[in-house]
Amino acid sequence: MGISFDLGGKTAIVTGANTGLGQAIAVALAGAGADIALVGRSSMAETEAAIAAAGKGRSHTIKADLSTIEPVKDVIDQTVTWSGRADILVNNAGIIKRADAVDFTEADWDAVMDVNLKTVFFLSQAFARHLIAEDKPGKIINIASLLSFQGGIRIPSYTASKSGLAGLTRLLACEWAGKGINVNAIAPGYFETNNTEALRNDADRNATILGRIPAGHWGKPDELGGAAVFLASQASDYVHGIVLPVDGGWLAR
Ligand code: NAP
Repeated sequence: MGISFDLGGKTAIVTGANTGLGQAIAVALAGAGADIALVGRSSMAETEAAIAAAGKGRSHTIKADLSTIEPVKDVIDQTVTWSGRADILVNNAGIIKRADAVDFTEADWDAVMDVNLKTVFFLSQAFARHLIAEDKPGKIINIASLLSFQGGIRIPSYTASKSGLAGLTRLLACEWAGKGINVNAIAPGYFETNNTEALRNDADRNATILGRIPAGHWGKPDELGGAAVFLASQASDYVHGIVLPVDGGWLAR
């Protein structure tokens, strides 16, 4: 059997697909041939246009606020109603709150844990229930972080959520690998998106971060697409429970 990165005939669900890394991942998966359910709370017009312009996979928008688990079953149901199937889930939507640990509020703790970890688990559960009921294989790709490996500063709930997400990725891989569901994560380094705007606007933090990246530049969102296509495709069928850094060499330093 040859190695295939082709996603033709597959349907992927991408959360937070309106901007940043989620948008780049959605466009990359569509470029490999997948149809994409674009899930989020904001307009997906830009992503829909980019996918249409590429002329490969189709896209369909599903409105959902992922700050609670209320919409999770509906996201799977609407995807299947639209395309007849759901093969790939990319848990990308995430938020970050910055404050010194001594000042950090319960609200900022809960908000981050809810979107970055709780909803990810229950959406993955709804997706896996669908696959298991249909006796079909599937792929889950969680968007982790360098804070899955490192401590960071001033982002306690973010670090807790992303470190927890690495553990959850491994647990779900252990439970579901035998059912033909691959669960893996990508740990992006420092990418140019809304998430990192505050860091890039801080001249000192920007210089410190840039000085440690062997590749010498902040990641551009489309530099993440290849890893997502790999983990979504047949090429990664024997890959389970990894957290794959795409970081310009940051962790190698
Ligand atoms: P971003 O531009 O801020 O994108 C975050 C995405 O999550 C947006 O689409 C956002 O939608 C969505 N989202 C947040 N809360 C949501 C909610 N309650 N319901 C539905 N969607 C929600 O940042 P990004 O960098 O692309 O982040 C994407 C993922 O990568 C996150 O999990 C982040 O932690 C992770 N990450 C980013 C970096 C980096 O350097 N940029 C590094 C490591 C990991 P709205 O636009 O509607 O808010």
